[in-house]
Amino acid sequence: MNKKVLIIGGVAAGCKAAARSKRLDAEAEVTILEKGGIVSYGGCGLPYFISDVIKDEKELMSTAIGVVRDASYFKNVKGVTVHINTCAEEIDRQKKVVKAVHVATGERKEFPYDKLILAVGGEPVIPPIEGVQLRGIYTLRTIEDGFKIKTRVAEKSVRKAVIVGSGLIGMEMAEAFYHRGIDVTVVEMLDWIYPAVLDKDMGLLAARYVSQKGIHVYTGEKVLRCEGSKDGLIQRVITDKRELKSRACHRGDPGHSGE
Ligand SMILES: Cc1cc2nc3c(=O)[nH]c(=O)nc-3n(C[C@H](O)[C@H](O)[C@H](O)COP(=O)(O)OP(=O)(O)OC[C@H]3O[C@@H](n4cnc5c(N)ncnc54)[C@H](O)[C@@H]3O)c2cc1C
Repeated sequence: MNKKVLIIGGVAAGCKAAARSKRLDAEAEVTILEKGGIVSYGGCGLPYFISDVIKDEKELMSTAIGVVRDASYFKNVKGVTVHINTCAEEIDRQKKVVKAVHVATGERKEFPYDKLILAVGGEPVIPPIEGVQLRGIYTLRTIEDGFKIKTRVAEKSVRKAVIVGSGLIGMEMAEAFYHRGIDVTVVEMLDWIYPAVLDKDMGLLAARYVSQKGIHVYTGEKVLRCEGSKDGLIQRVITDKRELKSRACHRGDPGHSGE
């Protein structure tokens, strides 16, 4: 009987594992379960999608010759079955089945396996700051997060963005918002930006460059809480040194105010 390889998670690691499994055993029945609606996209491109350097999301999920890597691509080209919107909920290791639910219809299904590969990625770390649940506060990890942020920016109601943390993704998002004409502030708890990848001397140089571009950089400063309007929309970010209000002017457009 053909070996059943089941993979949970269908972005970078999951799709690579699927392709590799087929190369090692062309007869294997390889199946991917992905709880999101899109597989095999380049998460690294999300800031550029939000800044509109990448205009069409299909560019994030296409091969070098422009073929979209969707479920039918995986079926026809790789011989791999993809179930999107399918969340694995339970692994029964005795029976060797994964119990999953379709996130839209609620339909439950069991997927048997001989080999099971977990490629479920990570989750954003959300610091325990009061008010982080307010509307208008986002994390960026999945393409769905990218759609939400880009849609919000496209509504042209966003005038000011505060980035909490100056790691690689935070600074890429600072650049993305800057390119969208948004007034950007970066708040970093440590004394320089990119603290995980740069030493202090280089981090200070990078901060000076970024500040000269017009992005506000506050290092050695901690976000204490976020405050919102009565209907739960973020309005203020309170740090241990200042209050960052949501009402701000568009760069070069002092007459406008908004979020
Ligand atoms: C904004 C941004 C910029 C980045 N830039 C770079 C870069 O420049 N260079 C670089 O090397 N890396 C970069 N990365 C990191 C890179 O995108 C990740 O390392 C890569 O996506 C990890 O792939 P993965 O398959 O392990 O996990 P993920 O991409 O997290 O995929 C895991 C998938 O598993 C699914 N899943 C989880 N649980 C279940 C379940 N129970 N059932 C079904 N499905 C499930 C999730 O929905 C998710 O789609 C960036 C990431 C982001 C967010």
